[in-house]
Amino acid sequence: MQCPSFLFVIMGLIIIAAMLLTYYIGLNYVAPEMLIIILGIVTVVLLIVGHTIVTGFERIAQANRMKSEFVSIVSHQLRTPLSSLKWSLGLLLGKRLGELSKKQKEYLDIINESNNRMIGLVNDLLNVNRIEQRRLEIKPKTFSLDSLAEEVIGEIKPLAKEKGVTIELYKEKDLPLVHADPDRVRMVIQNLIDNAVKYSKKDDDNKLAEVSIKQDKDKVVFSIRDNGVGIPFSLQKQVFGKFFRGDDLVKQKVEGAGLGLFIAKGVINLSKGEIDFKSKEGRGSTFWFTLPIANKINKRAS
Ligand code: ADP
Repeated sequence: MQCPSFLFVIMGLIIIAAMLLTYYIGLNYVAPEMLIIILGIVTVVLLIVGHTIVTGFERIAQANRMKSEFVSIVSHQLRTPLSSLKWSLGLLLGKRLGELSKKQKEYLDIINESNNRMIGLVNDLLNVNRIEQRRLEIKPKTFSLDSLAEEVIGEIKPLAKEKGVTIELYKEKDLPLVHADPDRVRMVIQNLIDNAVKYSKKDDDNKLAEVSIKQDKDKVVFSIRDNGVGIPFSLQKQVFGKFFRGDDLVKQKVEGAGLGLFIAKGVINLSKGEIDFKSKEGRGSTFWFTLPIANKINKRAS
């Protein structure tokens, strides 16, 4: 965090206005000696005000830096034990250390799932930190967005089915390849599909998430439409904010930390794309993002 540059412009304008005003008053209403004294007093006052504002911002910036460092250190420290727990659980669940009873496997599965959730949260916190400090690494490659989406849908489909959500994919033929970081984009797609499933209406028999991938000029557009709970208009401005969660959803105990869309926006912006959504409370939402086409020569046959 830095002192916003507009503040310096405003301070500069105030100083110029104060000087001109003092000069005008001094010229017309007071003697030259008085004018020098008034100018001196005004300059000192302005210097004190300026110094106070800058110091205040420096303090906020330092507190922010310390908070980021704290989150980063804690996240890194947590990742090591969580990873070794994952590794040990892998050995146990893979029966490398002997057979497991049904009950033992049941409990280990629960521990494994919780551990994976913790690892996910720690990784999200680290990514949020990297985005805030403009250090998120993007390794761009040329790849097919539709194939990646198909892969992710294939992975999530069984879980979505368990929750009664049907995922459908519509894609244009002959889509060009895109240029972005496929691992980061995978995270974005996963998050958007996860949300469409998570925020479906509990008692709806026709829960649907429709993914569509199309070309729009020099971009490929990924969009996902659901008929879930939607987002109230009053909250829509905050959706891409850090730790944002819809109130009622927190009450309903839908799992999440409110970091997925913040990270998604960071990743897509760094990939020279755009991300946005429209939503109606009680009717559903459509989230979409764009990625730049890699190279027109890369067009594939369908
Ligand atoms: P999380 O899902 O972990 O809370 P996200 O950053 O992915 O975090 O989403 C932030 C918030 O935006 C969610 O808590 C929810 O309130 C709202 N939201 C996101 N996607 C949808 C959706 N498809 N339908 C309704 N609400 C959504």
